[in-house]
Amino acid sequence: MKESILHYIWQQKLFTAHSLHTTEDEAVEVIDVGKLNTDAGPDFFNAKVRIGNTLWAGNVEIHTRASEWYKHNHQHDKAYDSVILHVVKYADASVSRSDGEKIPQLELVYPVRIEENYEKLISGQKWISCSDKIADIPAIFIQSWETALLTERLEQKMNAIQQLLNGNNQHWEEAFYIILARSFGFGANSQAFEMLAKSLPLTALAKHKNHLFQIEALLFGQAGFLDDELLDEYGLQLKKEYDFLKIKFSLRPINVEQWRLLRLRPDNFPQIRIAQFAALIHGSTKLFSRILERPELEYLNGILKTEPSDYWKTHYLFGHESPQKSKKLGKDSINSILINTIVPFLFCYATQKGNQDLKDKSIQLLEQIPAEKNTIVIGWQNIGLKVENAFESQALLQLKKRYCDEKKCLRCRIGHKVLTI
Ligand code: SF4
Repeated sequence: MKESILHYIWQQKLFTAHSLHTTEDEAVEVIDVGKLNTDAGPDFFNAKVRIGNTLWAGNVEIHTRASEWYKHNHQHDKAYDSVILHVVKYADASVSRSDGEKIPQLELVYPVRIEENYEKLISGQKWISCSDKIADIPAIFIQSWETALLTERLEQKMNAIQQLLNGNNQHWEEAFYIILARSFGFGANSQAFEMLAKSLPLTALAKHKNHLFQIEALLFGQAGFLDDELLDEYGLQLKKEYDFLKIKFSLRPINVEQWRLLRLRPDNFPQIRIAQFAALIHGSTKLFSRILERPELEYLNGILKTEPSDYWKTHYLFGHESPQKSKKLGKDSINSILINTIVPFLFCYATQKGNQDLKDKSIQLLEQIPAEKNTIVIGWQNIGLKVENAFESQALLQLKKRYCDEKKCLRCRIGHKVLTI
């Protein structure tokens, strides 16, 4: 039996609380279970219990079997001298502090179904181990858990943004440019896009923001795509421009080997994504300021729906002509950038500036964007959950990855309901 379930039962006060007695038959009243300690030392800090007529304040240690106290050598460890109560499932030994003084012990009694439900959750092999119980959980309860999960997810994304800001003197536009570039990699080329953006200062692009050709020359040149022997006339012109700009800004291109084309649909080729990114940068290098001014879905869609230069209408690669087709960013790609980059950035900015109105608007954006289509979202829908917008899909992605997959049912609010049903 896992000790974590005993921690959980103690922390949530799910034990039978009336007529508690120590193994020495002294009455016990639990006034405060204390605070769970996940580091070294006793399991719960600052608990308060009345044993007999004495009120004790101190720490609580929990074991399945009392004899584990000795297995873990707590009897010699001064960090455990502060333990006021040893809580166990089976009191198979009496225990003492380093000076030999006995520690009161309490055998925990609780409904057997909690342990049974927990075993089912932990040993379940289904995609979601509580899937047969989800239908019994009120929708309002799941919605409130989703709100907490979404906040947790945005806070995690915020940490990555914060790290970038700490490394560049809180330059929001520069940090946004790097994370935005990363999002144009759509997974397979995210790393390469980030390297590209870091190799090419936003200030260099800003000097040429009104000339799409020069922005393309800078981006394709820095990406390493202009050393290709198969360059056609357009590519050769870009190379000529890049050779000049490279000296002007003392640039060093990244290694072209960073880019992946294998198993990608042509629309997702890095050359197409770079052309789209160039079109987005064209005309405005202060994108984040524009977004802050109008964090509205229609406006943001308009900003992202950029058309790459004409050359790319008939090409997926340099020097290979293909039938004419618009290479505008598609709806799913735009939504992905909104969900994974723009909303987290707005949320991070709003949090740092204490702007609750902007924080609310960033969350509302997610409510207006359709749910992502991926195996996790489909999985939740298949077991009966409603997943209609990005607010819900992002929350449920967080639940699956950070709780279900890691078997953290004891920290999940649905898990709490399922255990006590
Ligand atoms: S973490 Fe929560 S939702 Fe996931 S399987 Fe456990 S109880 Fe169910």
